[in-house]
Amino acid sequence: MSGTNERVAVVGGSIAGLTAALNLRDAGVEVDIYERSPQPLSGYGTGIVVQPELVRYLVEQGIELESLSVPSTSMAYVDARTGNSLGTIPSAHRFTSYNTVYGQLLKLFSMDRYHNNKCLVGLDQDSDVVRMRFSDGTRAEADWLIAADGGASVVRKRLLGIEPQYAGYVTWRGLLQPGEVADEIWDYFDGKFTYGLLDDGHLIAYPIPGGEGKEASLLNFQWYWNVQEGPELDELMTDIRGTRLSRSVHNKSLIQHNLSQLHDRAQELAGPFRDLVLNAPSPFVTVVADATVDQMVHGRVVLIGDAAVTPRPHAAAGGAKACDDARTLAEVLGRGDDLSGSLQRWESRQLQQARAYVRKAQEMGSRLQSGGLFEPGDPNFAFGLPQVSHQSAL
Ligand code: FAD
Repeated sequence: MSGTNERVAVVGGSIAGLTAALNLRDAGVEVDIYERSPQPLSGYGTGIVVQPELVRYLVEQGIELESLSVPSTSMAYVDARTGNSLGTIPSAHRFTSYNTVYGQLLKLFSMDRYHNNKCLVGLDQDSDVVRMRFSDGTRAEADWLIAADGGASVVRKRLLGIEPQYAGYVTWRGLLQPGEVADEIWDYFDGKFTYGLLDDGHLIAYPIPGGEGKEASLLNFQWYWNVQEGPELDELMTDIRGTRLSRSVHNKSLIQHNLSQLHDRAQELAGPFRDLVLNAPSPFVTVVADATVDQMVHGRVVLIGDAAVTPRPHAAAGGAKACDDARTLAEVLGRGDDLSGSLQRWESRQLQQARAYVRKAQEMGSRLQSGGLFEPGDPNFAFGLPQVSHQSAL
């Protein structure tokens, strides 16, 4: 592939898709994004811990890290039942949000070749071209298809039959504006990452930016619950219309019984955690799942980000992994020489990184969900992507 005369289609216009498309466009490649959602995406205020790979493209464009994120100085480990401190370590992480990162990437790409309302339902390929079919009956063709369609990837399912495996727990997520909890509760969580540890699960809480043009930060939390697969999970993931949803039930669709359960269980938490959960105006629930693949390159179709390997969230670098897949793939495709050898080396490096990352996140999850040993500052559980041995393989 010469960097300029082949067309690339990206399916999925979130963090990985936009990062791939921006890097490819910079390399002179013609690129279109096809996104299922009819309107701009919303992360419902999900917080993200900043890793260098996540914000690399934005920082390279001259966007200040300070405008994308808020700082922290420590990591606190607390018994979430009693409120007793289990230790605090210094830590200089920065926190951002899905909306901030996505919003900035979308602004840089612009809407000219970002096609909303294009839900991929079918694809086929031969040695020259990939053909895509969308749910609105339209079709498109490209020389390469980058599948960045996330954890429930249709492309991964079509090519490999792989679906994410339920991890055995869900996460309740919530977001608070200043004034929605007492000042002392706000201060308790501000400026740090807090682990609230329990025998049968855990909470995390940290501040995130308030959004474009807003000075004040927001507080976001997640509370991970062990929920058995079967009737218990089915009931939790059924919305007010009676539909069993596979990934998330958003606040407005939650059955009252499930919301009451959240509030009842919050009463058993130590004060700051209880107040955080009880005062969040729109909590919602998401299933935790992961998936891995043995191959990312399938002829002219390449899987990246969560569409390739979907990690559970505990090591705070799923977005970073997605952006790293995207940037490095764009580098290979944009350069265009020895494409098959370069793609093979790229795949091997990215898979090595992704598998090591998934293993780390799984180990963290199994400790955190069972009251296992979780020492403050354990380097094995540091946030971020693992180092891969052959960084120069590209
Ligand atoms: P996604 O962001 O899932 O995007 C997939 C896109 O594809 C979506 O826009 C979707 O609408 C679109 N799409 C899907 N199907 C189709 C179709 N058929 N046709 C067209 N478009 C389609 N990461 C971090 O780095 N740090 C964190 O702190 C962190 N915390 C997390 C907390 C939680 C609870 C969760 C669930 C994830 C967290 N992550 C975190 C992970 C991070 O959000 C994901 O790894 C990242 O969003 C993956 O990006 P992606 O672009 O690969 O996929």
